[in-house]
Amino acid sequence: MPLVSDMYGSMVFNEHTMQERLPSATYKSLLKTMKEGKPLDQEVANVVAHAMKEWAIEKGATHYTHWFQPLSGITSEKHDSFLEPLGDGRAIMSFSGKELIQGEPDASSFPSGGLRATFEARGYTAWDPTSYAFIKDEVLCIPTAFCSYTGEALDKKTPLLRSMDAIDTQARRVLALFGEKPQRVVTTLGAEQEYFLISEKEYSQRQDLVMCGRTLFGHAPLKGQELEEHYFGAIRPTVNEFMKELDDELWKLGVPAKTKHNEVAPAQHELAPIFANSNRAIDENLLTMEKMRLLASHYGLVNLQHEKPFAGINGSGKHNNWSISAGKTNLLDPGDSPMDNLRFLVFLTGVIQAVDDYQELLRMSIASAGNDHRLGADEAPPAIVSMFLGDELGEVVDALIDEHEYRSADRVAVDLGVDALPNFLKDNTDRNRTSPFAFTGNKFEFRMPGSSVNLSDCNTILNTAMAKSLCDFADAMEGKQGEEFEAAAIDYIRDTLRAHRRIIFNGDGYATEWQEEAARRGLANHKNTAEALPCFVDPKSIELLERFGVLSETEIRSRYEVKLEKYSKLLNIECRTMKRMVRRQFLPAINGYAAEIARNVADIRAVAPDAKLEQQTVLLQKLLDGVAQIDEQLRLLIDEQLAANAIQDLQERAYAYAERVIPVMDALRAAVDEMEVIVDRAHWPVPTYNAMLFYV
Ligand code: ADP
Ligand code: MG
Repeated sequence: MPLVSDMYGSMVFNEHTMQERLPSATYKSLLKTMKEGKPLDQEVANVVAHAMKEWAIEKGATHYTHWFQPLSGITSEKHDSFLEPLGDGRAIMSFSGKELIQGEPDASSFPSGGLRATFEARGYTAWDPTSYAFIKDEVLCIPTAFCSYTGEALDKKTPLLRSMDAIDTQARRVLALFGEKPQRVVTTLGAEQEYFLISEKEYSQRQDLVMCGRTLFGHAPLKGQELEEHYFGAIRPTVNEFMKELDDELWKLGVPAKTKHNEVAPAQHELAPIFANSNRAIDENLLTMEKMRLLASHYGLVNLQHEKPFAGINGSGKHNNWSISAGKTNLLDPGDSPMDNLRFLVFLTGVIQAVDDYQELLRMSIASAGNDHRLGADEAPPAIVSMFLGDELGEVVDALIDEHEYRSADRVAVDLGVDALPNFLKDNTDRNRTSPFAFTGNKFEFRMPGSSVNLSDCNTILNTAMAKSLCDFADAMEGKQGEEFEAAAIDYIRDTLRAHRRIIFNGDGYATEWQEEAARRGLANHKNTAEALPCFVDPKSIELLERFGVLSETEIRSRYEVKLEKYSKLLNIECRTMKRMVRRQFLPAINGYAAEIARNVADIRAVAPDAKLEQQTVLLQKLLDGVAQIDEQLRLLIDEQLAANAIQDLQERAYAYAERVIPVMDALRAAVDEMEVIVDRAHWPVPTYNAMLFYV
């Protein structure tokens, strides 16, 4: 067994490998690009490409690919071999700086929201040197951004990198006011990935799982998660074997998988890595998701990453732990000295302002058909964005706003003057699991993202909104120094907190009173994706994203269109799958069982004319009523689906799906599920929740 420390990162062209393999001048130059965002020189690229290729070939690689994240969210790769024929029947393995820096996938089939139609048919990929290259299945993967020839971003990574640049610029302006001059400020991210594992055998018998990733039918199991026996429970041997192989594979890829445990729902699990710079963390999360899907098959399992594979039990999220760091300093860490605290308060206030001002954009950034089943369903945060600061920090903020004394945990009254800011407790143990955006000691945890998403979208928004907060602060403060700066900063913090106090909510996010209270506070409550998406193209959003060079109006409109299309398309597929299953599986099964009962009744009557047949006839009637009910909902569904698909305007079509189609899908499902519990088991055509959830 190889040592973990030997295996870790062995398939990654990381800093250690770079230093080992590159001439020192090249290494230094590349490091500048990686750490300070300096442009990469062509000469340097040639040397790096050569070293990378030699390294990759030693590790068994034969191909390379530009690995990128198109708007569909999942990663894409097209493999090219290193092979170059010499013309005399021999060949060498070659890889140039040009091939490293830029690739040209034939990308006409990726979603672009009309961008390529109006501009250029092709796009190109460009190496993101701040993410490490790695080898996966004998292919050297080069993390890249994907753009059109006119420079529009066609992927999820480019805007993320732009938003990180925006935060870098603005945060350094703010830090300069504190006399600090870091080389680069980055956002950090730790993505906790939830997922389900079920057996491949049952999975393959369910068209809904295969086609849609979630069950469109299925009665609640006999027991759900009410006993809370699964959470942190002993991990079963097969699952454990899967997790071990997954860890090994991820470690080789330098993905710091750290924690694994059973989750609340039966058959649900979680993997949490150690955080990294946001762009790397997202690459790593995508790799993790891919490895999970592929490795599950080694154990006869299927890995479900949908937000809500099973109705009635918890769905899966992807907690987005987020902070900002300058070198080794975490800027959301309260710190030890009064000045550290002041800086912390500036950044904290910035986050509060950003989340309040752009709550709708944040909600939009995580909206999807799958996530609609989670948000507001008493298991994940509600669809209303609010922030939880915890008791200690909440009191500090209150004291600042109300200008009263702050009583610290050890009950010493502290005057909230400039140089006597309290030393708050760093260990925030008071966790509010119902909050969408919670302070957890030295970072914020954004809990709304669903398990299947690419986290680039929400981090792009979060970073850009934060860049604006920091920019506002720097604009107001630049030119002030010493005590004048400190006093002005405290005033600024107080005013800003006052203006954004409404976003802070420490109570129970599941309570219905919160919905009413939130409405009184003027907080947005977009219940589904169709309602959440339009804010993307609001002038306020366009102004923010354009101002910080993150997305142009054209890019925004194209992305909005892609999201709308995806929503309606997914629901259309779900409708089709439902219809197919009802017609070809459920109705025949129920009718078959009803006919069997009818025959039995007739048979029994023939030999025992006076037999009591009440149970049988009542059941027969229930089955026939059920069939009639299913048939009625099926017809309704067909009508509503056709009507929705006939709508040309994509936003209107999305509304039609959300408001008219989904309720009928729910009613059809309910009608079928009612039959599931009275039809003989042998007749039921698909594995039930009981069969799927408790055997893995
Ligand atoms: P939990 O939320 O389950 O209690 P932890 O508090 O241990 O878990 O951390 C959750 C995630 O937050 C981990 O992935 C961890 O690496 C990440 N994390 C910790 N510090 C930071 C940070 N400064 N920036 C971003 N993520 C962080
Ligand atoms: Mg968490």
